[in-house]
Amino acid sequence: MSPAMADRTLPRAEALIDLDALRHNVALLVARAAASGAATMAVVKADGYGHGALPVARAALEAGATWLGGCSLAEALALRAGGIDAPVLSWLDTIDTDLAPGIAAGVDLSASSTRELGAIVEGARAAGRRARVHLKIDTGLSRNGAPAAEWPALVAAASAAPEVELVGVWSHLACADEPGHPSVDLQAARFQEACRVVDGRPLRHLANSAATLDRPDLHLDLVRVGIAMYGLNPLPRPEDLRPVMTFRSSVALTKRIAAGESVSYGHTWTASRPTNLALVPVGYADGVPRLLSNRMQVWLGGRRRPVVGRVCMDQIVVDCGDDRVPVGEEVVLFGDGSRGEPTATEWADTIGTIDYEIVTGMYRPRVARTYLGVR
Ligand SMILES: *Cc1c(COP(=O)(O)O)cnc(C)c1O
Repeated sequence: MSPAMADRTLPRAEALIDLDALRHNVALLVARAAASGAATMAVVKADGYGHGALPVARAALEAGATWLGGCSLAEALALRAGGIDAPVLSWLDTIDTDLAPGIAAGVDLSASSTRELGAIVEGARAAGRRARVHLKIDTGLSRNGAPAAEWPALVAAASAAPEVELVGVWSHLACADEPGHPSVDLQAARFQEACRVVDGRPLRHLANSAATLDRPDLHLDLVRVGIAMYGLNPLPRPEDLRPVMTFRSSVALTKRIAAGESVSYGHTWTASRPTNLALVPVGYADGVPRLLSNRMQVWLGGRRRPVVGRVCMDQIVVDCGDDRVPVGEEVVLFGDGSRGEPTATEWADTIGTIDYEIVTGMYRPRVARTYLGVR
């Protein structure tokens, strides 16, 4: 965190986004991909996993990514509206989405069925422009993507449509974050098989962050990186990634309570000795999971301290023992861990989820975002 940030008045809930850390992560991933001749797509869906799609997209492009990926056309068009003209792939829209504005803006679209391809063809006619299309094959995730039985017909329909420029062929892995999982090789083999029936040389892409780090043989022409770019490691072994998001607040009120007094709804925690409490004005409405009640710590006044009692909608209470902490003091809920503070991964591990869900959970209006390292 830059020293300049320390003097500022703290918003009640703030996500600090360190774009230097993001560029470091992207450069690492781009170098891995480039070593096998692949380009890098920075995935910025869900408002950049809660980090802010536009600033993340700009920083990722500065650091060497050449593609962007978003889930929906609305997300892709927001990038275009922000002045980004790099290739953008949008992969999942509902059947009544008007695709023409996306095609007019040069957004790449994905088709998993001849029905979806038909909607793209219609959109291209309305836009008066050829649509850039990536055909998706389901190789075993059973989410979107065409089943193998429908693949040849989808490929044939795309080749026959003059409104369509076939830019890519792609699929998505189910278990790349478990190195050695047999499904990865099976999906890769099914993908190669599917590519065989496609004429020309469209881009082939399969790898997410985990496969980008773990399976250089699956980089193909393009890798699609999300979580690792945000500095969270999907693999069970260390990688040189720096968490990009710090979540912080400040002390709103302090008080001393007597032994035997209990804290927060349901009185799930009772002081065994007189103690100083610090009230921090963030809660589950700000992305602090209620499941962390009595199971989390914060970084406050140079050390970790336990949050006691239930996490409320707008507030948590920190037990400071006999220490006196000033009102207004910074409280770090999670960060990159370098000072000893908790990380988003620690939160996720505590409540049995993944860190993706923790940082993406900061995609909410009450959490202010501040960017460090803007160029
Ligand atoms: C989200 C997503 C990615 C990125 O996955 P990470 O595990 O975050 O790297 C890649 N491809 C598709 C299709 C996705 O939906």
